[in-house]
Amino acid sequence: AAGRPAYRRVLLKLSGEALMGDDAYGINQATIERMVREIADVVALGVELAVVIGGGNIFRGVALGAGGMDRATADYMGMLATVMNSLALQDALRQVGVPARVQSALKIEQVVEPYIRPKALRYLEERKVVIFAAGTGNPFFTTDTAAALRGAEIGAEIVLKATKVDGVYSADPALDPDAQRYQTIGFDEAIARNLKVMDATAFALCRDQRLPIKVFSIFKEGALRRVVLGEDEGTLVHV
Ligand code: UDP
Repeated sequence: AAGRPAYRRVLLKLSGEALMGDDAYGINQATIERMVREIADVVALGVELAVVIGGGNIFRGVALGAGGMDRATADYMGMLATVMNSLALQDALRQVGVPARVQSALKIEQVVEPYIRPKALRYLEERKVVIFAAGTGNPFFTTDTAAALRGAEIGAEIVLKATKVDGVYSADPALDPDAQRYQTIGFDEAIARNLKVMDATAFALCRDQRLPIKVFSIFKEGALRRVVLGEDEGTLVHV
């Protein structure tokens, strides 16, 4: 039986790193094709979907900053990397017949349209996937924060953080065999237990805006669909 989605509008955060698949760098074709299938699946459920994609598979500001480059310059390069990923995702969606639009927080108008909130809202109502590129448009921030910000702006009911781990654990599951996955956890408890869900700025914004976060694995087949259907998958961080 076709399930009913638990949400009307969601903001999906994909890390750039996830796009690499098993490659050392860049965009892995098989990986992006699989992601696009998963996205197409939830779009078919009638959910309004916005996406924020990272850039870590191409470039991270902090890394170059540490190497001596001016941090703000390095961060602008990182933001441009997210534009490349966004275009790749848009085109991969186009190839499977899912309409998508990229909006960029930085103006690069020959390439992508700028972020215009009412236009983004209209695209969502038209069931187009909206991909928010260039993060927040500001150095010293992350695409996690962009996800929280855009999620709040578009009135998403939840931020879906697709990551390498299938939820929030009591300890690092890679280091501690006794680590337990939380099915749900409150924002305050996550802080008290010093659990990393998103970076601090993104986390604080979601908490202030009472915007729940679902952390789940990008590598688990069908996980995004189960999350959207409100099934037990990953960890729900709630108010
Ligand atoms: N970035 C930035 N401001 C933002 C979002 C991103 O300066 O609002 C830069 C920053 O240098 C970051 C890079 O873009 O390292 C890639 O983003 P992020 O590290 O969040 O990507 P992910 O880890 O999700 O792949």
